[in-house]
Order: sequence, then C-alpha cells, then structure tokens
Amino acid sequence: MKKEDLITLEITDMGVDGEGIGRYDGFTFFVKDAVIGDTVEAKILKMKKNYGYARLQQVLKPSSLRREPGCVHARPCGGCQLQALDYEAQLDFKAKKIQNHLIRIGGFTDIEKPEVMGMDNPWRYRNKAQFPFGTDREGHAVTGFYAVRSHRIIPCTDCLLGVEENQVVLEKVLAHMERHQIPAYDETTGKGLVRHVLIRKGFATGELMVCLILKGRTLKALPELSSSLQEIPGMKSITINVNLENTNVIMGKELLPVWGPMYITDRIREITYRISPLSFYQVNPVQTKRLYETALEYADLRGHEIVWDLYCGIGTISLFLARKAGKVYGVEIVPEAIEDARENARINGIKNAEFFVGKAEEVLPRKYQEEGVRADVIVVDPPRKGCDPAALETMVRMAPERIVYISCDSATLARDLKYLCGEGYEVKKVKGCDMFAFTTHVETVCLLSNRKLKPDTYIKLSLDMEDYYRIKDAEKEKNKTS
Ligand code: SAH
Repeated sequence: MKKEDLITLEITDMGVDGEGIGRYDGFTFFVKDAVIGDTVEAKILKMKKNYGYARLQQVLKPSSLRREPGCVHARPCGGCQLQALDYEAQLDFKAKKIQNHLIRIGGFTDIEKPEVMGMDNPWRYRNKAQFPFGTDREGHAVTGFYAVRSHRIIPCTDCLLGVEENQVVLEKVLAHMERHQIPAYDETTGKGLVRHVLIRKGFATGELMVCLILKGRTLKALPELSSSLQEIPGMKSITINVNLENTNVIMGKELLPVWGPMYITDRIREITYRISPLSFYQVNPVQTKRLYETALEYADLRGHEIVWDLYCGIGTISLFLARKAGKVYGVEIVPEAIEDARENARINGIKNAEFFVGKAEEVLPRKYQEEGVRADVIVVDPPRKGCDPAALETMVRMAPERIVYISCDSATLARDLKYLCGEGYEVKKVKGCDMFAFTTHVETVCLLSNRKLKPDTYIKLSLDMEDYYRIKDAEKEKNKTS
C-alpha cells in the first residue's frame, strides 16, 4: 500500500476531530468527511507505520446516519466537521468523546456514557460571528470562512450557524468597500485596511452590534456606512476596533465609538448582561441557559453559601448564582471583563457579588492564605487548557463541599478530575451540553463532592439555612458545656 492508492473500506468509528475511522489490510485509516457506517472509496494521502490518512473519493454505500449537509460549504469550510452526520448521532458522538476522555485520561473505569443536552433546532444558534476579509483573484473584497487548516477565505456571507442579519451587514460592508475602493487587509503583506467584521446579537433583546476591525482608525465615508448599517432593525452599537499589528490575532485593544453605545445588552433568564466587543460571552444563548441551570442545580445553593466562580468572564455564572448564594466571588484575568462584571452586578441590583482581576491560580491562593476566605462551593469554567495546578491545589486545601466544573475540553477536564479525585473528591454527576452543533466541540458540566466531609456537613447540605444555624448553635452550646 502506498500514497495515491485507492482503497475501499467500511467506516466503523469516528475520531475526536470527527474524522471517519476504518480498517484496511490491518491498517487503521482516518478519512475526513466519512461517517460511521459508510462504505467508502478513499485515496491514501499518507502512510505511517500502522495507520494512514486517506481522502474520501466517493461514498459507495451511505450510512443510515448520513445526512445531506445543510450548507454547500460544509466540506471545505473549517467551521463544521459533522454536518454529514445525523444530529442525534452527533450527540452520541459527543457523549462517547466525554466518556472516552474520562476513562482514558481520567482513569475513571466506572463512568457511564453521559447525557448530552441537545438543541430542538440546531441551526442559527450563534449570537456572534467574526468574518475575515480578503481579496479575490479579480481584486474584489470578499468575506467568508477559512478553509480547513488554512487562512484561505471561502466566500460566504450566510453561515447557517449564524443569524440572518450577518448577511445583511456583510453585504453592506462589501458594497461600501467596492464603492470607495477600500482594500481588505492582507495577512501575508500586512497591507490593507479591513481585517474582520464582528457581529453580535442579543437573542433575548434583539439588539445588534457591529464592530469593524481595522488596521487603522477610520474608513473612507464612514458616516455613510454607519447610516446604512443603522437601517438594519435592532442595530444598537457600531464601533471600530484598531489592530495595527501584523498578526493573526483578531482584535486589537483600542475601541472607538462610531454610533450608539459601545455595548449591547442581553438577558439570560432574569439577569441582564452588558456585552462589549472585547468581552467573552457564550455564543449559544439557548444552550448557555441550560448549561447554567445545570451548574446552578449542581451547586445546590440554599442561600448562605460562600461561592467562588473562577474564570468568571463578565460574571455570567456568578450573577446567576448570586441570587441563591450568601456571597459570590468571581475571578477573571481580563480587566475589561471584570469592569463589565461589576457593571452587570450593578444593573441587576446584585450586591453580594465581588470580583477580582487576576489569574485564578494567583488570586485564590492569596485570598485563602492571607485573608483566610473560605468556600462552600467552587465553580470553575476555565479555557481549553483547563485549571492551573496551583488553582487546583488551593481548591483542595479550601475543601469546599462541592466543586462544579464546567469545561469546553473534556480531555483537560479528565486530567483535572483525576487530580481532584486523588485528593478526596468524587465525581457525582456528569452531563454534556451541545453548545456547538455540527462541530466536534462539546461542553461538559460535572459535579464533584468532598468525600472527607464530616457527617455534620452532610446534614448541612440537606437542611435549609435556619435549620443549619440552629444545629450550629446547639453544637456551640454543647461544646461550651463539655
Ligand atoms: N464563565 C464565563 C467565562 C468562561 S471562558 C462565562 O461562562 O461566560 C474562560 C474565561 O477564563 C475567559 O473569560 C478568560 O479570559 C478567563 N481566563 C483565562 N485564563 C485565566 C486565568 N489563568 N485566571 C482567570 N481567568 C482566566
């Protein structure tokens, strides 16, 4: 067997990146775009010692789980990996991914396949899109999505995962660039002006935000473009983000107002959030609500608890929990996000939430060692790389009754759970949440409880606050007399 050979194989599994996996002549082959259950013809791209990569040539016998992709760009586009797979099967794929990571990396042998909360309608769920701009062969500005593992733009103004307004905004920006001969930024030469357009929509409020990310501070005939964008129903905020660097980092630090405030607002349940172009906000609001409700259920708050929300962003989870807790402390590394978090607490009239700027692995140890702050419940929602060891160690030393771990990467989740479970915690519940339908990503929420707790603390969990204090007072009395 060698490169360029055509092989016929049955796809019997799928890898973590959504690629089909089949065996041929004792070798394992990875075939992108093939679906579990397909029989395919594929061309060998690369051979290794006992496995290889092959390109899908044709589907000889389609799997019963194969579906016609909704989007014509599904195969070349780097955004979606699972459009050809039935939605229920996608959820099953994600459940297995979580389970596999927990078994293989976490060493949890008795973990069952978790439930993954799916969407009723898995299309047009994203409230945020960042479209890169470039120039086509004829010299016209184009926008769309990057092809798989490249920065080649596939022209497309209507991604089916995003809102319909994206297309209206992008067509207006493209027409304006054409009319005024405004060049798109070119990553290879560092020349040109328009880098990206960021669009956000508050699903609960209908408010729209457009942020033009430029290698510069303004644009020819800006008022004309601004007026045109203002005609779009829901438009609330138009800004420019200045990024003068020759880098593929999307956003610069400086934000300039063009029209309206430099934020929009959105709501999740009864909490209102102010969102600026620079702050992190979950992209799938329908599923975010379900994710946070699960986190809240796992936190099982009675009203008196001290809760830490590490990696809190703009305080989304903190404020959600604050209504049910005694006190919530949020920690986040991005100063602007903390400003938003404080503002969000204020506009919601929440007084029992306090926020700190800094690294979780520095702030938490400091607060614990120097000021002796405690925790009844710790919620963490770290980025893909998971929690820093120093943060985990302090969490263990603070010995909260419960830890709620929200994760966007089940591999690092499994690694961190392994550590926590070696230090006296046990995994009580695991649930997946499909925040990113048609991609291989899955969010996981996990409840851990402290095995070392004394029986009286267990009693505390099942009583309401008054009962809790009554018992505590009785204990104090007893200690005094004995
Ligand atoms: N819980 C929030 C945000 C989760 S995203 C929400 O649901 O909206 C993860 C957040 O962790 C980001 O806001 C990121 O800026 C922040 N972050 C990354 N590294 C960090 C660190 N070492 N310490 C604290 N926060 C960090």
